[in-house]
Amino acid sequence: MIDRTDPPNESASDETLGATQPVTALNLRWLILSLVLLSVLATLGNSLVTAYRVQRDALVDHALQSNSAYAAKVASSLAEFIHSAQNHLRYSASELGKAWGDPSVMRAEALRLQKQDGDFNSIAIIDSTAKVLEAYPDTLQINGSTLRSDAILKAIEAKRPFISSAYTSAAGNLDVFISEPVYDAAERYVGIIGGSVYLREDNALHTLISRHFHHEGTFAFVADQDRQLLFHPEAARIGDTLGWSKTVDAALRGESGSMSVRNYKGVPMLAGYAQVPGAGWAVVAQQPREVSLAPLNTLMRDVLLGMLPAALIGFVLIWFGTLLICRPLNQLSRIARQLSAPQASEQLRHVKAWYHEAFSIRQAMLAGVQLLQAKLGHLNQQVLTDPMTGLANRRAMDQELRRLERTGQTYSVLSLDIDHFKRVNDTFGHDKGDLAIKQVAHTLQAYSRVGDLACRAGGEEFLLILPQTDVESASAIAERIRQAIATSDIPTVGRITASIGVATCEHLPTTAEIVLKKADECLYRAKQGGRNRVESYLSMASSDSE
Ligand code: GH3
Ligand code: MG
Ligand code: MG
Repeated sequence: MIDRTDPPNESASDETLGATQPVTALNLRWLILSLVLLSVLATLGNSLVTAYRVQRDALVDHALQSNSAYAAKVASSLAEFIHSAQNHLRYSASELGKAWGDPSVMRAEALRLQKQDGDFNSIAIIDSTAKVLEAYPDTLQINGSTLRSDAILKAIEAKRPFISSAYTSAAGNLDVFISEPVYDAAERYVGIIGGSVYLREDNALHTLISRHFHHEGTFAFVADQDRQLLFHPEAARIGDTLGWSKTVDAALRGESGSMSVRNYKGVPMLAGYAQVPGAGWAVVAQQPREVSLAPLNTLMRDVLLGMLPAALIGFVLIWFGTLLICRPLNQLSRIARQLSAPQASEQLRHVKAWYHEAFSIRQAMLAGVQLLQAKLGHLNQQVLTDPMTGLANRRAMDQELRRLERTGQTYSVLSLDIDHFKRVNDTFGHDKGDLAIKQVAHTLQAYSRVGDLACRAGGEEFLLILPQTDVESASAIAERIRQAIATSDIPTVGRITASIGVATCEHLPTTAEIVLKKADECLYRAKQGGRNRVESYLSMASSDSE
């Protein structure tokens, strides 16, 4: 017996599906989100790496350019210094030439030069035999002595403006000596006047180089043509001879520019270089690469912070975007699990399929659901119908009785059985017997009202359920049916009769089984009473009580 309240069978088939097709944990939304996030992160990472490279190259370029400019500036200042020192010496040389040998003139020129602008740490006037005629300040008391140092001898031999390499003087100082030849009134070469720069003491080079603006961490050094350091911020290194150095070599060749190099300790440096015109010295200004790149961390943090709000907004948009795209598909997928549910069509119509693919899927599902439900309806109809007569079968009758029981309505039941049907079969054959059964079914149908249910209970037995009908009305209907059967001609068979039992729930305890039983009892009484008659439970009850 089937009750409409029973859980539908499709749940069982869902479980079967679940067992054969493992449910995957992946869902479309997370797939799209992961994919988009991956590409966003890749783009972000790529942008950061590119930004890092661009900023780094810009910082390196900037450091190289400013160091190159710094070196050039120092070189030009040194050139000016040398030029001006040589001019001062030349003037004094011409004054000395006019009165060569005059101690007061020599003294006066030495004094003037030394005091003039502090270019030199000391002044010496030396004759062509290397004898010192005047020295100021003469702290070492070399006046009158003959000098032997290479630099002085070379200066005397040169007979022209001369700048020495760094050399250690008789006094033990590390000096650079700048000199001019002296010619007397007769244009004879008589000696030189020169000034010394004491490289290890405060000197004009130091003042000049420190005067220039430079970035933190940048320092400059100066080397002569023999690669000896004339100036270096680490005073201890002054006088050292440099090893192989790309920057110094380039500057000594007369080139200027910048390059990335490693210093003698292997530390990467960004260096600018230039040559001092006139002296041929090399000036190198450099900065550790690490110091130049120090602002990079702050810059990158700023770039990252700058990108963050846009990235967050983008993420939120993507989040909502995937939600909107996946929502119709999610809804469709949920409905797909319960396609046979009666509300499936309605649910599908409510899905907002706002883009082409979702719309197509929804339409296909709707068509599928309608087909499925039509098939189910048809099957349902078949399950509840007697195939021979088209009347409801026992299953449908049981459902109707349950429904009436649940709603507590009054109803009556007619139980009908064809009289002596065996004889019909025996006389006219089984097929003609079927014809008679169909004829009775047709009569029952014809006398049923809307809401009544006529059913074939089995063989040549029928039931008619009459909701909202008391036993009197039911008996009257039964009588009309009996008469109709008895007066209808069936081809070949002729006329047949039927007996009918009528019972109602009105005066009985209210289970359908009892009502049916009573109707059968009445039918039995009708048979007993001679057939082709109607017996009702009330008439039976009254006859019982008589
Ligand atoms: P009664 O008046 O006492 O009811 O006599 P009866 O001959 O009708 O007796 P019963 O109801 O016991 O017999 C029913 C017969 O109906 C038995 C069976 O052969 C026949 N029958 C049952 N189903 C069908 C069917 O589908 N077609 C045909 N042709 N005969 C059927
Ligand atoms: Mg029978
Ligand atoms: Mg019978």
